[in-house]
Amino acid sequence: MNKAPRVNINLDKIKENARILKNRCDKKDIEITGVVKCGAGDLRITKAIVAGGIKSLGDSRIKNIIKMREAGFENEIVLLRLPSLTELKDVVKYADISLNSELITLESLGREAVKQGKIHKVIIMVDVGDLREGVLYKDYLDLIDKALQIKGVKVIGIGTNVGCYGGVLPTYQNTSLLLELKEETLKMFNYNLEVISGGNTATTILLDNDQLPKGINNLRVGEGIIQGTDITHQREIKFLNSNNITLIAKIIELKEKPSVPIGEIGHDAFGNKPKFEDKGIRKRAILAVGRQDVKVSGLRPLLKGVKIIGASSDHLLCDVTEAETELQIGSEIEFQLNYGAMLRAMTSSYVNKYYITSL
Ligand SMILES: *Cc1c(COP(=O)(O)O)cnc(C)c1O
Repeated sequence: MNKAPRVNINLDKIKENARILKNRCDKKDIEITGVVKCGAGDLRITKAIVAGGIKSLGDSRIKNIIKMREAGFENEIVLLRLPSLTELKDVVKYADISLNSELITLESLGREAVKQGKIHKVIIMVDVGDLREGVLYKDYLDLIDKALQIKGVKVIGIGTNVGCYGGVLPTYQNTSLLLELKEETLKMFNYNLEVISGGNTATTILLDNDQLPKGINNLRVGEGIIQGTDITHQREIKFLNSNNITLIAKIIELKEKPSVPIGEIGHDAFGNKPKFEDKGIRKRAILAVGRQDVKVSGLRPLLKGVKIIGASSDHLLCDVTEAETELQIGSEIEFQLNYGAMLRAMTSSYVNKYYITSL
């Protein structure tokens, strides 16, 4: 059950985060879509988020959404990644809403929805500067004009995403562009966009600083609920629980060794030429976890005095000379995971999952 390497997943803390965030947003008439993708669509995490009171769910993978439906979730589910032309049948069948930016895809979605006798809801994504998905501001009116005429598709709103690719920070100004477009849409087409989806975890900082433009009525939040962090701003969100998902790995070798390898130095397994500082003889632990399982640069040991010195595909090397507790072969060390490391650990088939919960 609790074999290592594993992630310990504290469902109670995740549930509480969902509740805290929901309560804060309820007060400002903002709906939260709980995003499960950084937990790899894990069904128990999904359940915890729903137990925390969040009704709308989101994931970037249609595969995860199908899994949720098969497990019996009847919540509204939003597909976050723009749909591929080859998956539209499943998108219409399993997702209630999808995010879109391409006319061709919208037209095909419409045809598929008509075929299935459904109306598929869409949110049009607007690129306010991060340069990932979304129609540019200048091309918006043209796209919305056409999108509003497609049978089988109902445009329920517009949205934006920043932080993820360009690292662009959300501001009052760039988020307000959505509200300008809402007004333009009303003026030009006499059409009311119901949902104005302001962004992801990174945008919650505007809410905390009272900088979120009035009229934004939806946020799509994953990292904040699941890990209590906001990697775009490099912060822990102070009113949420953090370290809800941690990595545990076991020691398989523990020896005193020199800190500089002996012999001529070539390239390591990943093509880099390593450099070493001579600190004399140190106590080194090898842990049975590696780059196949996590993003090593996103790990931080929670045991004081432990320092990560390197990793290969299946091994993690730590200097444990100054470790706060006595270690031996078989001892476990716990690590904090940042967004990228969590994503990799949750999707690696080599990493077990252990749930901490009273649910
Ligand atoms: C991943 C994603 C989110 C959620 O991001 P978090 O940083 O985990 O809150 C929201 N919207 C879109 C479009 C996404 O791809």
